Order: sequence, then C-alpha cells, then structure tokens
Amino acid sequence: MKEKICIHWFRRDLRLNDNPSINFLSQFNYPILFIYINDENHKKRRIGSASRLWLHHSIKYLNVQLSGKLNLFSDKALDIFKKLIQEFDIQAVSWNRCYESEEIKRDSLIKDFLKKSISNVKSFNGSLLWEPWEVLKNDGTPYKVFTPFYKRGCLLSSPPRKPLTEKINRISDRKSECSIDSLKLLPDKNWKSKPESYWKIGEEFAEEILENFMLKGINGYQEGRNYPSKNNVSKLSPYIHWGQISPNTIWYNVDKNKAKDLSLEDVDVFKSELGWREFSYYLLYHFPQITEKNLQSKFDKFEWENNPEYLEKWSSGRTGYPIIDAGMRELWKTGYMHNRVRMIVGSFLVKNLLNHWKNGESWFWDCLFDADSASNSASWQWVAGTGADAAPYFRIFNPVTQGQRFDPNGDYVKEHIPEIKNLPIKFLHCPWEIPEELSQKVNFKLGIDYPFPIVNIKESREKALDIFALLKKDK
Ligand code: FAD
Repeated sequence: MKEKICIHWFRRDLRLNDNPSINFLSQFNYPILFIYINDENHKKRRIGSASRLWLHHSIKYLNVQLSGKLNLFSDKALDIFKKLIQEFDIQAVSWNRCYESEEIKRDSLIKDFLKKSISNVKSFNGSLLWEPWEVLKNDGTPYKVFTPFYKRGCLLSSPPRKPLTEKINRISDRKSECSIDSLKLLPDKNWKSKPESYWKIGEEFAEEILENFMLKGINGYQEGRNYPSKNNVSKLSPYIHWGQISPNTIWYNVDKNKAKDLSLEDVDVFKSELGWREFSYYLLYHFPQITEKNLQSKFDKFEWENNPEYLEKWSSGRTGYPIIDAGMRELWKTGYMHNRVRMIVGSFLVKNLLNHWKNGESWFWDCLFDADSASNSASWQWVAGTGADAAPYFRIFNPVTQGQRFDPNGDYVKEHIPEIKNLPIKFLHCPWEIPEELSQKVNFKLGIDYPFPIVNIKESREKALDIFALLKKDK
C-alpha cells in the first residue's frame, strides 16, 4: 500500500514561519513531504548568477531546518508530480503563488492535472499583502498610479493577513534522490569578492535583521533612507524576494513597534516602501509585458545609442563619476545596492549614456541578490520614464549634486573607491575639478588612479532632453 502523505512545494517561500501553504497542510494528519524543484523549463530567462548563489545557500539552510529531509528535484515540475503520484497516496498538495505570467501558466496546468486525482490541491498568497486582482478602481480597471493604488486601493481595503503561527506536525522520511550540489546552482561568475560573505543567508537571519532594524534602523527612516552610508535601510530585500520572511511578518512587526516610540512618519514611509513592492507585483500581474516592453509605447521610437563601451564602463564602475562607480562596485562586491544609488546609476545609464533600460535591468538581474522580475522591471521603467507611474523623462539626476547631497562626507564613495579617498571633500564627487597643484600634493593622477568622466554631464543631459522632446512632439 502506498504511504499517505501531503506535499508542500517550496518556490519563492523558503521559510517555515508564516507560510500559508504549510499552515494549510498542518491540518491533515499525515507526514508532509517538502519538495523543491529546480525547474526553469517554462521560463524565457533563467535566474541570474547572484540569485543562483543565494538560492544554493538558502536551500542548504532550509534542508538543515528540515533535519535533512528536504526533497530536491531537477526536472519539469509536472513530470516530478507524475512520479510522486506513482509513489505515494497523496492527500493534499499546496504551494504559495508566484505572479509572473509564465509561472501562473505553468502552475495552472499543474493544478488542473493534480486535481484529477487529488482532492486537496491549493495555492495561497504567501508573498503579497494584497492580491493584485483584489485591488481595482471603481470602474474595475487596474490602477496605474502608485498613490491612489496604495492609499485608496490597498490601505482602505481589508488589512493584510496576520502572520500565522501554526507549526509543522510530521515531516516525511523520504530521502532526497538529488543532492544540493547536483542542482548545479552555483554560478561560474568571476567574483573575487565572494558577495555571499556579506550576508547570512536563511530564514532565521531575516528575522534577526528585522529585529535589529526595528531597534536601530527604522528610527529616522524617512530621511535616513536616502543616505547610502547610513544604516537606515533594512537590507531585507533578498530575504523578502526569496520568501525567507513574509511582508506580513514585517508589516505587523512594524505595527507592534509603532505602539512603542517610533515616529509615525518613519513607520508610514517604511510601510509605503513595502507598498512600492506591492505596486511592482500589481503592475507585473496586470501588465505582464512590463518585463520586456515599455509600458508607454511612445518610447518604443526612442533612439537609444546602446554604446557597448559605455555599458561596460558603467557595469564595472569605471565611469569617472564617483557616486555611480561606488554604486556599481557595491553591487558587484556585495550583491546589493542602496535604493538612492540605484536611482542615480539608473538615470545615468539611460539618460546620460543613452543605453536602453533593459541593458541596466539585465545587469542588475545578474548581480543583485534581490533580483526580482516585478521590482526590477517596474523600477527600471520608473527610472527611464517609460513606466506606468514613472519619473518624468526630464528628471535627470546629476551624479555630482546627488553625491554631494546624499553622501556629503564621502563615506560611501570612499568605502567603494579607495583610490580617491585622499581627495579633499570638495573634489570627492568631481575629481576632474581638482587643481593640478593639489592633485600632486595628495598624489592623485586623474586618468591613472581614477578615470576621466566618460561623458560630459551637461552635454549628455541636453542631448537626452532633445531626443525626448522629439518624442513629445510625435505624440
Ligand atoms: P528598505 O528601504 O529597507 O525597504 C524595505 C523593503 O521594501 C525592501 O526590502 C523591498 O522589498 C521594498 N522596497 C523598498 N523600496 C522599494 C522600491 N522602490 N520598489 C519596490 N520595492 C521596494 N528591489 C527589489 O527587491 N528587487 C529588484 O530587483 C530591484 N531592482 C531595482 C532597480 C532599480 C533601478 C531601482 C531604482 C530600484 C530597484 N529595487 C529593487 C527597489 C529598491 O531599490 C530595493 O527594494 C531596496 O533598495 C532594497 O533595500 P532594502 O531592503 O534595504 O530596502
């Protein structure tokens, strides 16, 4: 007789706490088989190198949490389920939803197939505060602008689900046929810095980071989140992306602490950033083309120069603009970049270097630990001005004034570009302006120690504005 079991299928919910699918299965009195399937067959684009690295370590950690009983597979998910049906008498199967159109399509096919022989097949919302199809304008169409989406659509609807507390009863003893290494997730990227060494990867660490952020970071968040050298951002994004912590746990933890002595502004602004994540998923769900096409089609006519040399210099942090290079080097070294700097480097690539936003999106996709098709595409389209509720095309960040304003003591650029650390503060964000005499005194040679700027900021800005103006005329 086949053993009776339930199956939880891990995807981007690599946690045991506040996991609606696991919570659902706990009500059945059967052992739970925990599975992870490495299946990218249905995807147009594989996950990036940094994501593979994070995933490898996350699976390792999760397997330890499950006392070595995480079952790994590497094949088409449907074929894996066909095999498991042969092996077990499956009482229930469930998972938490993903929102990319190709995942939705694959999951629906699998659900239909499983439902033919299993009576309990369910999917849950384990990663969003509000389901995208539940938040609509009065006329039934989706919001395209963040503020009404968030303030009217989300905040005025039912509050997000409270975190769940049930624990797992029994874990199936089935041994995994596949080892973690045989999934071959580890990328062959030429990283000298070992970006994973900057992080502790696993569910428990996400909770620890949240706790620390509540103690030290969130106070002053509203203002401090703009300064890359301050510790006012949570750095929870990779954990949120991989589901090592749920947005619900964060949301209600903030509420719990709000009752103490946090300023309401800091709390509201922090929560609204979670709201921006919701908005990105909302856009991805309602406008799945967002990952590939300009949401505003008038930008399809834009004549990008796509200079490969500029793209290479931007990617490797050698543009000659310290705040840009510091950001790109932070990304390469640690798999993360501060949000303010993401906006500045994005604007620079798209508007000053006239490279398509998709080039920047691809580089981020490969290098970010939090690379996320919703937030990455929506944010790049926001920066480029091509998105739904985007920064206007004429907003072009000046990397010098942004650096001076948000890194006033130069701590951030000095950390990531040590070769300019001896420059007087006045020239840290514009090394090309240092007088010859002073340059000799601090033993700094522009063009040797640090590159000349690759473009002139004023000229490149005007050129972009001229091209954008043509589009406007064309409308
Ligand atoms: P915190 O300030 O602590 O915010 C808490 C959480 O809110 C974040 O972890 C994140 O989940 C969410 N959040 C904050 N800001 C945003 C935002 N603007 N948009 C969406 N969610 C937000 N975020 C990703 O998670 N993945 C990406 O691939 C990604 N690509 C980006 C590309 C560009 C060009 C830009 C400008 C932004 C991108 N972001 C992306 C959004 C944002 O930069 C990061 O979420 C944030 O920097 C993560 O750092 P944190 O956890 O310290 O944020």
